[in-house]
Amino acid sequence: MNVLFLGAPGSGKGTQSKKIETEFNIPQISTGDLLRAETASGSKMGEDLKKIMSSGKFVSDELVLKLVSKKITSDDCSNGFILDGFPRNLSQASSLDVLLNDLNVAIEYVFLIDVPTDLIIKRCVGRITCDTCGKIENEYFSDFREGDSCGEGVYVKRADDNEETVTNRLRVYSEQTEPIIEFYEKKGILHRIVGGEDGPERLTEEIVTIIKN
Ligand code: AMP
Repeated sequence: MNVLFLGAPGSGKGTQSKKIETEFNIPQISTGDLLRAETASGSKMGEDLKKIMSSGKFVSDELVLKLVSKKITSDDCSNGFILDGFPRNLSQASSLDVLLNDLNVAIEYVFLIDVPTDLIIKRCVGRITCDTCGKIENEYFSDFREGDSCGEGVYVKRADDNEETVTNRLRVYSEQTEPIIEFYEKKGILHRIVGGEDGPERLTEEIVTIIKN
């Protein structure tokens, strides 16, 4: 089973991907996580990536396609995969179609997580992630704070989760990523999941029900 999550930064794509990963035992491929791992390597490419990502701009289509293609063709993904954060523009969506065609597989479900913009900003600016297990919490909506222990590791803030960069990322999302919604709507595989102030559990339930039915 191959699944794709679409949605603005902070809409909860990462949280839902992780839940679906556990529920159906297929791996999440997050291009943001793959790129952040590259920035932590200290390489020259990592340094260049850090600059692009901290401004909220996109890194090159060529690089993300290379990262995704390597993952999708690995043994881990032989039973399927969950794409989170890719594709992010129409050119990436077309390249993904070509790649999947060559592999003779297809995306079965695209979930668009739709959340109001004011909530998105709070979600991003308050977001903290465990540096070891990747668990996500929020300083606005929980008692956890940056530097607290999750049990496995320590909660850290992403460099691009400040208000200025988030506003930039939202603008880039509406200009470049939103057109993909129609691309998948036309294929008849898009499911709109409306999120709000309530927690992620209801959304997971809705997504799991759609997949199981
Ligand atoms: P994310 O963790 O998905 O919010 O991604 C963080 C940052 O990584 C983005 O703001 C981009 O700079 C970069 N990035 C992640 N995925 C892509 C992609 N598919 N295409 C281009 N840049 C990406």
